[in-house]
Amino acid sequence: MHKNKIWLSSPYLGGNELKYVQGAFDTNWIASVGDNIDRFEGDLEAYLGDGYATVLNSGTAAIHLGLILLGVQPGDEVLCQSLTFAASANPILYLGATPIFIDSEIQTWNICPVALEEAIIDRIAKGKRPKVIIAVDLYGMPYQVEAVRKLANQYAIPILEDSAEALGSSYKGKKCGTFGDISVLSFNNNKIITTSGGGAIITKKMSLKEKAFFLATQSQDKGVSHYQHSEIGYNYKMNNISAGIGRGQMEVLDINLGLRKKVHQFYLNLFKNIAGVTVFNVPTDDYCSNHWLTTILIETSLTKGISREDLRLALLEENIESRPVMKPMHLQPIFKKYSFYGGDNAGKLFENGLCLPSGSNLSKEERDRIETVILNLFKVGL
Ligand SMILES: *Cc1c(COP(=O)(O)O)cnc(C)c1O
Repeated sequence: MHKNKIWLSSPYLGGNELKYVQGAFDTNWIASVGDNIDRFEGDLEAYLGDGYATVLNSGTAAIHLGLILLGVQPGDEVLCQSLTFAASANPILYLGATPIFIDSEIQTWNICPVALEEAIIDRIAKGKRPKVIIAVDLYGMPYQVEAVRKLANQYAIPILEDSAEALGSSYKGKKCGTFGDISVLSFNNNKIITTSGGGAIITKKMSLKEKAFFLATQSQDKGVSHYQHSEIGYNYKMNNISAGIGRGQMEVLDINLGLRKKVHQFYLNLFKNIAGVTVFNVPTDDYCSNHWLTTILIETSLTKGISREDLRLALLEENIESRPVMKPMHLQPIFKKYSFYGGDNAGKLFENGLCLPSGSNLSKEERDRIETVILNLFKVGL
């Protein structure tokens, strides 16, 4: 394989990232306070249009602090979308709480309101009111915001919105990252924007932003000159260098989104005439996806047996990266023993779904390489 590797999603740099990082060096503020941090948080708040942002060193850290802020204690139950990345669920275990996994619905692939309500009723009947609902905007697709919010309000259970993959997405014109009682973003390497590693917690109140900062900086008691701690603390703050990269990334976010949309359109056209393959797309105009990753479903009964694994291997042969859709948490060795509510939607999406290269900088030549593999495999136009 001598051809260049085509990645699933590579960073899209704007140009000013280095300028802001240089600024951090010039002013000798390369630590966990500084201008870039304040400005990056301000940029995020302005972009989201609702809530207070605290930037942290990962999205996982943001989920962990989010669960703490929502009052999760050892032994509590937390409802969590099963079809997601493990980082949505691991912090439940960090806290000694118990995850209860929920199936997906097939319109948005996210938490199914019917299975969610079934779970809530059953857990309450068993004597435990779940503490939090973790709803994910997987692959940049907003979950069924209104239906999930209705249940959250009806049963008085707060939502932690995992928008790690959904910066730039929106529902009815309002940005993802604003729908949870607490929401979370990630700026890890391959997300829609990157700070080389980082995340943010979005809260509705200034007091919660302050509390998040307090927890993320080792919970140092205020008003004393020595180190004094009355609560467990964490080392979760973002540094001023990463925040500089984040500021540069925010300046090109909209361009980046436009390019991702073009990639998505390329796949819509490519698969239009291939029976048995559907490109995952927004169910109605209410939903706007950032198209972080374009994903497809392959129905083998309509493709003469060609499966998502066949396509993955054919792409790999040409040094093109693709990846199966997330393996649901309730099927993971580490989470198998926990309860699951719903049917087989998440399992089927995993079995038949594939994420395709979706980087904003996918060139014409790279698209041609991908197209050739796909047309050859499905024997289109031959
Ligand atoms: C990436 C991701 C996270 C974790 O974010 P990190 O910044 O990598 O810790 C959480 N949830 C989902 C759905 C993700 O894709």
